[in-house]
Amino acid sequence: MALIVQKYGGTSVGTVERIQGVAQKVKGFREQGHDVVVVVSAMSGETNRLIGMANEISQRPVPREMDVLVSTGEQVTIALLAMALTELGCAAKSYTGGQVRIHTDSAHTKARIQAIDDENMRADLKAGRVVIVAGFQGMDDNNNITTLGRGGSDTTAVALAAALKADECQIYTDVDGVYTTDPRVVESARRLSKITFEEMLEMASLGSKVLQIRSVEFAGKYNVPLRVLSTFEDGPGTLITTEELDSMEQPVISGIAFNRDEAKLTLLGVPDVPGVAAKILAPVGAKNIEVDMIVQNVGADQTTDFTFTVHRNDVEAAYEVLEGVSKELGAREVRKDSKICKVSVVGVGMRSHAGVASQMFETLAAEGINIQMISTSEIKISVVVDEKYLELAVRSLHQAFELALEDAN
Ligand code: ASP
Ligand code: MG
Repeated sequence: MALIVQKYGGTSVGTVERIQGVAQKVKGFREQGHDVVVVVSAMSGETNRLIGMANEISQRPVPREMDVLVSTGEQVTIALLAMALTELGCAAKSYTGGQVRIHTDSAHTKARIQAIDDENMRADLKAGRVVIVAGFQGMDDNNNITTLGRGGSDTTAVALAAALKADECQIYTDVDGVYTTDPRVVESARRLSKITFEEMLEMASLGSKVLQIRSVEFAGKYNVPLRVLSTFEDGPGTLITTEELDSMEQPVISGIAFNRDEAKLTLLGVPDVPGVAAKILAPVGAKNIEVDMIVQNVGADQTTDFTFTVHRNDVEAAYEVLEGVSKELGAREVRKDSKICKVSVVGVGMRSHAGVASQMFETLAAEGINIQMISTSEIKISVVVDEKYLELAVRSLHQAFELALEDAN
């Protein structure tokens, strides 16, 4: 008998029939004797619909009111699911984030969970009830409704699992697990039976959208066993854990992530003197533009070319900043390029294997793909290439690292 926290995403609760389907599933777990806490998202499309209405009224809606608005999506689902469970003869009670006392800071629309009071939930579980909690929302010190950022229901589920010391946190979604890469790009992409938190964090931050990044950080920090699985098909899904496979089974590369959302900016012919990098990036940061990869190289003529990437939405703003900086520093030219993509290979197995980078670069070279930028961490190598090579790069790397082969378990 276990204590399980289950989260059902927007598609899983997208219609009344689907909510009834989720109720059936939950009832099945109760019948096996498990205690169940369920976290739900808003019905699919609902959060976007609410945001759309707000944007019709205001270009910059008051964040506090935005949270009052968007938190209603989840409130609908918890009530409907509680009703559906009751209809099936399964005792259940719904709670908003505030009612369960999910305490957050006051950063509206991107609040962080600070504490959770598990008393009510424990009492309900003890009384044999399924506890249903609205995902994505909490309450600050002054009883204002807050929300946790898009996709935040994942984080609610993990935080509840941590607070309740649940045996497992299960994220039910419309895919049956985490894949070696996006199956829409590589047909032979394979579901991973296991992946480490570190790898999942890299995959998520590099563009794999299965889980909200915050939820993976949270699960790693509190050591919550996390499983991603399908609402619509039975199967083991993917377990995200701290345990690595033993070295015989551990593949060198676990997955390939990619991201089409970045753009590249280059400042050519910058004087090669101390303080230049700071002078370039400080005004970019001051505009709240996040910088991802950075490459700087020294030329023969005492100047350097400075290249970095930002989110594509920020490229015009960053370009404007650089035009100013360029004049100030006496640089030769500013260039921007949005037709790029980032392709990354991720794997903890890299730590104990030499030659991953060269294998990656050789594979790309064999396809005639030029590498524009490179960055690495202990468990990841990312390259920036021309956007038109995205599919080819991902496919050839998937093959080169033999990711389509069955994994050991
Ligand atoms: N309903 C929210 C969203 O669409 C939260 C979630 O689904 O996780 O972002
Ligand atoms: Mg989601």
